[in-house]
Amino acid sequence: MGFSDIIMDWYSINKRDLPWRNSHDAYKIWLSEVILQQTRVEQGMPYYEKFVANFPTVFDLAAAHEDTVLKLWQGLGYYSRARNLHHTAKIIVKEHQGIFPDSFEELLKLKGVGTYTAAAIASFAFDVVVPVVDGNVFRLLSRYFGIETAIDSHTGKKVFNELAKELMDQRNPAIYNQAIMEFGSLMCKPANPNCEICPLNQSCVALKTDAVNKLPYKAKTTAVRHRFFSYIYIRYKNRFVMMKRTGNDIWKNLYQFPMIETKKAMTPKKIMKDAIWTDLFKNEHYQIVNVSQEELHKLSHQTIHAIFYEVTVEKALDLDNEYFWVSAKHHHQYAVPKLMENFLADK
Ligand code: SF4
Repeated sequence: MGFSDIIMDWYSINKRDLPWRNSHDAYKIWLSEVILQQTRVEQGMPYYEKFVANFPTVFDLAAAHEDTVLKLWQGLGYYSRARNLHHTAKIIVKEHQGIFPDSFEELLKLKGVGTYTAAAIASFAFDVVVPVVDGNVFRLLSRYFGIETAIDSHTGKKVFNELAKELMDQRNPAIYNQAIMEFGSLMCKPANPNCEICPLNQSCVALKTDAVNKLPYKAKTTAVRHRFFSYIYIRYKNRFVMMKRTGNDIWKNLYQFPMIETKKAMTPKKIMKDAIWTDLFKNEHYQIVNVSQEELHKLSHQTIHAIFYEVTVEKALDLDNEYFWVSAKHHHQYAVPKLMENFLADK
């Protein structure tokens, strides 16, 4: 048996029963693929179920308010995925009468739909013969064939894509694509792959050459940017001040307390002299009554150092337009980043 037959045989016995696998509905497949990008299946599953329950069709998603979509997405990270999902749902309804295009090329034109997602929808929903090459496939092919070309290089992408295409079972593109991803995810795992029981272990180059832990190769190491967020948690009775994040940055359109961003950690003294503080409190003198521990929040290319400064006021501040009061009872309606969610959970 060759590579493809082995993994498809293995898949028929070992596949996980995931809800989107029993469907040819392009909407549900798209939803699951967007949710599962950079997310483990166990973490993504409840989000998939919430989205399908709240928006059973692309029309329901398109008609939703962005705040509702972001709130349902809260905690999953990479919020641009949720915004693109919502945007694309509207395009599908407006320009395609609610029907997903059935070709790889047309799918690729949709916002937030890259090569991988377009290939997944085209093959799973419409049986188009196009390979999906996600992290699991890169890793499996790189190890099994002993390919040292960096997976994040232009050449690497081409090499792996062509190999995946050559290996495809032309008669069963949907099953083949799901099988190769599932095999990479469950058998040829990033750390501690199951080489001992792997049905490919007799012919795996990495195993033979003791290179399993060295492959796949990556060319770039990503520089991490450190950002310092000082949140001002202003309390008046059972209310506090919030604002919406705008601008092209992480967590766009999510909500937060007023915040001062700096390149280095701030001291309370400096915070109280900052223009944002002055805008909030005008000429009134208020003291910081509580300072939280520093919270580290790691994103793929950034580390956020967050500290919450609590200020209690005796009368409602006269707020500028971007700020507004939220009652402690109603703050759950607002989509917030995970570190705000954790902070508010204790309140
Ligand atoms: S033998 Fe090990 S490294 Fe090779 S394909 Fe199987 S799990 Fe992956």
